Amino acid sequence: MTVTTISEANSELTLRLRQQELAAEFATFSLQHDEVQPVLDEACRVAAKGMECTLSKVLEFLPSDGEFVMRAGLGWHPGSVGHVRLGADLASPAGFAFQTGQPVLSNHLANETRFRTPKLLVEHGVHRAFNVLVETPDWRYGVLEVDSPDERDFSISDTAFLQTLAATLALAIAKANRRRDLSESEARYRALSETLEMQVVERTRERDRLWELSEDLLVVADYDGRLLRINPAWGRLLGKADADIVRDGYPALIHPDDLARVEATLLEMRSEGASARYTNRIEAQDGHWIWISWTLSPEPGGERLTGVGRDVTAEREEAALRERLEDQLRQSQKMEAVGQLTGGLAHDFNNLLTGIVGSLEMMNTRIAQGRIKDLERYIGAAQGAATRAAALTHRLLAFSRRQTLDPKPVRFDALVEGISDLVRRTVGPGIEVSTLAEPGLWNALCDPNQLENALLNLAINARDAMPDGGRLTIKSENVVIDWQHAGFRDMPAGQFVAVSVTDTGSGMPAEVVARAFDPFFTTKPLGVGTGLGLSMVYGFCKQSGGQVRIHSLVGEGTTVTIYLPRDASGFEAETEDKVHPTVPNALAGQTVLVVDDEPTVRLLVTDVLQDLGYAAIEAADGASGLKVLQSDVRIDLLVSDVGLPGGMNGRQMADAARVRRPDLKVLFITGYAEGAAVRDAALDTGMHVMTKPFAMDALAARIGAIIKVGD
Ligand code: ADP
Ligand code: MG
Repeated sequence: MTVTTISEANSELTLRLRQQELAAEFATFSLQHDEVQPVLDEACRVAAKGMECTLSKVLEFLPSDGEFVMRAGLGWHPGSVGHVRLGADLASPAGFAFQTGQPVLSNHLANETRFRTPKLLVEHGVHRAFNVLVETPDWRYGVLEVDSPDERDFSISDTAFLQTLAATLALAIAKANRRRDLSESEARYRALSETLEMQVVERTRERDRLWELSEDLLVVADYDGRLLRINPAWGRLLGKADADIVRDGYPALIHPDDLARVEATLLEMRSEGASARYTNRIEAQDGHWIWISWTLSPEPGGERLTGVGRDVTAEREEAALRERLEDQLRQSQKMEAVGQLTGGLAHDFNNLLTGIVGSLEMMNTRIAQGRIKDLERYIGAAQGAATRAAALTHRLLAFSRRQTLDPKPVRFDALVEGISDLVRRTVGPGIEVSTLAEPGLWNALCDPNQLENALLNLAINARDAMPDGGRLTIKSENVVIDWQHAGFRDMPAGQFVAVSVTDTGSGMPAEVVARAFDPFFTTKPLGVGTGLGLSMVYGFCKQSGGQVRIHSLVGEGTTVTIYLPRDASGFEAETEDKVHPTVPNALAGQTVLVVDDEPTVRLLVTDVLQDLGYAAIEAADGASGLKVLQSDVRIDLLVSDVGLPGGMNGRQMADAARVRRPDLKVLFITGYAEGAAVRDAALDTGMHVMTKPFAMDALAARIGAIIKVGD
């Protein structure tokens, strides 16, 4: 039983007051100190003093090691702090307090059964030990421990005092740690922002240097063309003060022809928020125009744009000089070719005219001599020369693509078969000719005469390429061109009849293939080649809505393929009636009106008509022709030139006449230039075309056939 004397009670009270004072002092101390260590040291001092002990320490639990380390100590060896490690498990008083959270009070360590007395305490002769937990509500730091070799019992008030100290200590440690964390992150932040700032400064400096030195125009502008910032390149390029450039704005500099395009580009850029590139001209101070190639990109936010502009004037001028030099070269090549051609043609025509004029002179002479039976020879010679001259002009017109085509459904296989004989005779016996036609070959829509011409031209080229003989194949087939191939072959998509003329001759190098269709291009000696054959073929195919292609390998041979549109009208194709024209005889009273401003043509045509038994009426221009047509005179056929004097052409006259005579049959006889009037507008039914020059018996056959239809 414990007997408490008055003096004992007094001293107990004094001790408790002392403890309260000490706890308050420690609280003040910890508030005044931001560092951990002085607070730990002070805690040790205050704890020992208040508990009247000689030894005290603060142990921090190290979670990574599962041990305590001594962070502060009083009465222990000076080297202990920061080094002494103690077990933190339940086997030691400190560990027990830490693990259970309970204050661990032991007045007689030697008698303890709860745990072993640590070696350190035994060495220091410790008999009593008191451990309290150092923790805040959310964090457990370690243990505050006081020890004493003296035999004095700890009391309840000691527990309260030590727990108060420990709680104050925990808060102080937490506060100091937070402050340390805070200042550390502050320092990190400061260091980081310093480098960032330096980078920004550096980048800005670089950008400024670029801005200053750039030869390109750099700009920040708005969408109205106001220049918000420009770099010095502007002033240097334009020869103006920067301030003046900014004041006047971009639109003031732009070439008037470029203004609308630039405005449209900016408008589109603004609405779509996308970058833009364009080139426009701006005016320098001295009035010359500078081409600028711009790359503009919108700034986020939509009100401003940044741009880089490069002076491309020199490049453009160089290119233009080159687009021009090439033109000149081509032009001079063309002139040279024209010169060659005219020379060649003049030569050919002279020969032909000599034949004609000579024959006429001879006929004159023979008639004067009364030697009539010789006449036929000269007539034949003159006719032959005139026919060749007509063929020559035909070729010329074809290449100029102003020939009058008379497209109609053509039975392809029949036509090819029909001219194969002529081809054989043309190429000679050294060349084996074969024709192949796909069964069920479609009809083509084209001018059959021109198709024959084209095939003959190709055969002649093949012959020229095979001077030592070889094989010539004419193959016809149906071909469907889809839109992909159409683009590839530069022709419309659709159904075509294709005819290929293949030879086993010399072939062409690529540069000859590239130019073979050019008018006047020939590799043959002057007088042999005119360079018009393939250009005629080309003109005919294109004008017919088809295409022509060359495949050729040097030494292997050549294939030229003609594509002509399929005729899908279902009309029966014309067969060859012109080879053996049947000259019909007129019925009584049938009358033909002939309108032509050329008296010779009128004379010839009316002569032919009268020979055939038709009555003929003549008119020299559209107006007088129309007068006849608007009268009640019987007219079975109008034969008219297209180009007529007096402001009304043949087509217009025929159209006007058809108001009163809707079934009027018309045959236009036309040269090339005026052919457009009947070619471009589709011919109405009952209207036909014949191209000058023509043989008189062909005219007779044609007239007869037209008048007969429907009778
Ligand atoms: P020309 O026959 O009067 O020279 P073309 O226009 O018909 O004119 O042909 C032009 C050129 O194309 C020919 O000079 C020749 O070099 C070449 N050529 C045309 N067809 C063939 C072919 N079948 N084989 C080899 N070369 C050809
Ligand atoms: Mg030729």
